[in-house]
Amino acid sequence: MKNLLLFLGMLTFSTQTFATDFKDYQIFGTYNLGCISKTVEFPLKSKDYQVQIYGEGRNFAHPLMIEYLNSLIKRAKEAKLPPLLIGDLSKKNGGPYGAKSNHASHAIGLDVDLPFDFASPKKSDYELHHPKDRYIVNSKGPNQNFDKKVITLIKLAASDSKVERIFVHPRIKQHLCKTLKGEDRKILQVLRPWFGHRAHMHVRLACPKDSPYCKAQAKVPAGDGCLETETWFLPPDPKAKPVKAQVRKKKQLPPQCKAILKI
Ligand SMILES: [Zn+2]
Repeated sequence: MKNLLLFLGMLTFSTQTFATDFKDYQIFGTYNLGCISKTVEFPLKSKDYQVQIYGEGRNFAHPLMIEYLNSLIKRAKEAKLPPLLIGDLSKKNGGPYGAKSNHASHAIGLDVDLPFDFASPKKSDYELHHPKDRYIVNSKGPNQNFDKKVITLIKLAASDSKVERIFVHPRIKQHLCKTLKGEDRKILQVLRPWFGHRAHMHVRLACPKDSPYCKAQAKVPAGDGCLETETWFLPPDPKAKPVKAQVRKKKQLPPQCKAILKI
């Protein structure tokens, strides 16, 4: 009896520490302009997925993101999807990718790009280093690549409570607004229309509770956002005044990042 109590005591202790102990992984700043004191490396080699490699050292993230990806890979396998392809995460201590990169964010270990493609047939090393975009929409709507497998992948990616928002091309959101039914429509709220994102979705997780300097983004608006998505396709208002170019103040990285990124 005494042993059993001791065992149960250890169990509660271990689950508590696993779920909440991310204090070593402190995030500073925003998704665009920030850094992270420590990350976990997402393994490049696995039989269950392949990682696209646009550049070296882009496979690091906050442990919550690693948990998210492992769970997604497992659920995709259960749903009989082919092995997943995983795109860019963050650099070892986060930080902006720089003006030459196509990433404006991915700076704090909470963003990942998930291509609308699968590791089946298995990609060669050359293909992983020179990834080809597989678009699922054109400027008018879905193409033949927007199939059941891709829809299942989007549904699985969006239905994890860790997800704060997912950026997809407005035509992708529009198509899902028209076709998803019943319970499946719940995922629409986190799907946010944005430029690009025709060949991959960009998944963003919420700031972890124990990273007080992680600057959260505004919450996604209530509702499915389908009406708002239609505004992306309206012709420009002829009466609208031309927007004057504004001189923007150059934003600075949080001071803590200078030490973390050694800059
Ligand atoms: Zn991205």
